[in-house]
Amino acid sequence: MQTGDRHNGRVHILLVEDDAAVAASSLDGLTALGFSVDHVGSGASALAAVASPVPPEVILLDLGLPDMDGQEVCRRIRATTDIPIIVVSARGDETDRVIALELGADDYLVKPFGMRELAARIRAVMRRTQAPATTSAPATAAVQEIGRLAIDRRAQRVHLDGEEIALTAKEFDVLAYLAEDPGAVRRRTEILEHVWEGHWYGATKTVDAHVAAIRKKLGDAAWIEAVRGVGFRLGSP
Ligand code: CA
Repeated sequence: MQTGDRHNGRVHILLVEDDAAVAASSLDGLTALGFSVDHVGSGASALAAVASPVPPEVILLDLGLPDMDGQEVCRRIRATTDIPIIVVSARGDETDRVIALELGADDYLVKPFGMRELAARIRAVMRRTQAPATTSAPATAAVQEIGRLAIDRRAQRVHLDGEEIALTAKEFDVLAYLAEDPGAVRRRTEILEHVWEGHWYGATKTVDAHVAAIRKKLGDAAWIEAVRGVGFRLGSP
């Protein structure tokens, strides 16, 4: 593992990439843009880095790794942490994007890509996952209670009957967006634009995948009602 300087306030990136040439150019480009980058070339070493005492702030994850499927790596990282994951793949079709999102990735970049685009995506996922959720809900109502559900936008935490529900950053954003106006229908495209800031052109299945994950975690599909042909609204079972 090449270790970057972590002590002068630079964003700490974990680059998971087995292709030496791709890794070298990403490493050079990101370092030149002011990021601190650690590089690993396998799924196992990525999981070890995530579990280390100084975990990365953003993970760039190649899907084609020698020892494990990148999707499995993504799933395992997401099972233990909310560190933003940007999947970097040569595979650009919608199915792969949707699978990556279902597994908890925050963004998806198709190879080849430019360093500036990568840097912009990194900053965007950090903004979305670290800044307090920018919603139109009253700032004073830090914790919104909807029946048995409590949504804390400042802490980005959700409790159901007092038990914390572990949502990914994106799942939280979808739920918080629907909760801005309980009972109001939001179109899939509105949810995509609000939560993904237009990064997921046409991939409305992404929204369905996140809704399915939230319903499962909340233990009742009635929390988010599908309005046929339109979108979703927050319910209260
Ligand atoms: Ca690869």
